[in-house]
Amino acid sequence: MNQKCYITTAIPYANAAPHIGTAMDYLYGDILLRYQLLRGNDAKMSIGTDEHGIKVQQKAETNGKTPQQFVDDLQPEFNKMRAALDMNFGVDITDATKPLVEQDFNEQNIISVRTSDSEHVRLVQDIWRRLDEAGVIYKSRYEGWYCTGCEAYYTETETHDNNYICPIHNKPYEKLSEENYYLKVSAFTDRIRNFIKDAVVPEFRGKELLEMIKDGARDVSISRPSDKLSWGVPVPGDESQVMYVWIDALSNYITALGYPDDDWHSDFWPANVEIVGKDILRFHAIIWPAMLMALGLELPKKLMVHGFINVDGVKMSKSIGNVVSPLAIIDDYGVDAFRYYFVAHVPTFEDGDFTWEKFENAYNGELANDLGNLVARVAAMIRKYFDGNLAVVDETNELNDAAETLLGDYKVSMDGLDLNSALNAITKYVHELNQYIEQSAPWKVNKIEDEAERMQRQVEIFSTLVNGLLLVAKYVSPFMPNTAYVIHDTFSHDEIPAETPIMFPKKYLHTAEPTHK
Ligand SMILES: [Zn+2]
Repeated sequence: MNQKCYITTAIPYANAAPHIGTAMDYLYGDILLRYQLLRGNDAKMSIGTDEHGIKVQQKAETNGKTPQQFVDDLQPEFNKMRAALDMNFGVDITDATKPLVEQDFNEQNIISVRTSDSEHVRLVQDIWRRLDEAGVIYKSRYEGWYCTGCEAYYTETETHDNNYICPIHNKPYEKLSEENYYLKVSAFTDRIRNFIKDAVVPEFRGKELLEMIKDGARDVSISRPSDKLSWGVPVPGDESQVMYVWIDALSNYITALGYPDDDWHSDFWPANVEIVGKDILRFHAIIWPAMLMALGLELPKKLMVHGFINVDGVKMSKSIGNVVSPLAIIDDYGVDAFRYYFVAHVPTFEDGDFTWEKFENAYNGELANDLGNLVARVAAMIRKYFDGNLAVVDETNELNDAAETLLGDYKVSMDGLDLNSALNAITKYVHELNQYIEQSAPWKVNKIEDEAERMQRQVEIFSTLVNGLLLVAKYVSPFMPNTAYVIHDTFSHDEIPAETPIMFPKKYLHTAEPTHK
């Protein structure tokens, strides 16, 4: 069944180079995209950068650049990260990051939106007009609190509870008193509640949000006076106002499809999954559905909410000096090791933890020993017992039950967006394959004198192992595409290649190398 499938990733704010949180969004999206492609679906993913807003305006000023120059100069950093994570499908990642009009929608699996792109700006202004026509925009005076760091408005109660200092940014809230446009979010309260119940994964994040709007969703200010914020999308028909950055940013998920032009790719909407960090869920679960409902569009099917990555239990921060760059990990251990750790050792819906020690233990243990060594051992024995001939392999799979379990667990986990559990199901199966070698002991079988009997048993054993490894390659491919390729390439031809690359050579850059007798 060939189905259209659309996955969106939160667009990182372009006021600094991408960090591990950005990498997590990309990684999760990339895995879901590859999974859908593996199932034969017509899948696309959106990526992008959120380039407007006061923070960019200020950062650009500090750096003596225009905001446009500043965000343009940051693009190579984002492209480098995307390329390093191996987000390449058919087309080079740089093709996906051309201006929106120059991207070939039909040829690409990844569509990229930069919110300062003139095409996006044009479409967003059209979206504003449609919201206005729908009667959900009105003008009013905003008297209240704002955090520039969060780009969010806060109530008196919220700010009071935090002693008037934003706990995320450690900065006092700003008191605003200005004439703004508002979006009538309150009109959609009941449907927003239903959306949260149906769409938010995991459920407990949705419950937190429902508590927040228990007295109803509030209307939100959706513009700022342009004399206070100049770097943004001008409100159509009112030069004195610039759009609130979230209206512009959230719209990227549909401008990526060409909405609201007549020929937009409506067959990819609604999104199957929108991936967001827990800190930005409220924008995606309250403002965004209100906008979509006002536009008469369907709501995303799932909002997948992930947590943050700590380092040894402590939040990463520049001032503490514990920031870990994804590129530093990828440079030393390879992209598949990065992809593996941040899925296998981070619960998909909770905060995760990174230490170099934990990472290196997983690398040397689970990847080098359990998987890499398994592939090398099986290849070496096939060379030894069959002279490298793979044509003898038949359908036999003595681990059929384990394979059935893997398939079941994998599918349930993937469909439930629990990437961690899906990858762990594969790891468990790899473990079964390792045990099978010990139990079936091909080196003992090799001593059976009767040639026919010996060969028959060896064929059974190695058919089981090769079929098992090909299954691993298939199911691990969304998670570790390069690893999947090597395994598949090693065991899918008539002969084992003369040399198989060493997968995950052991490394002791951060932990002590064990001493051997
Ligand atoms: Zn803040």
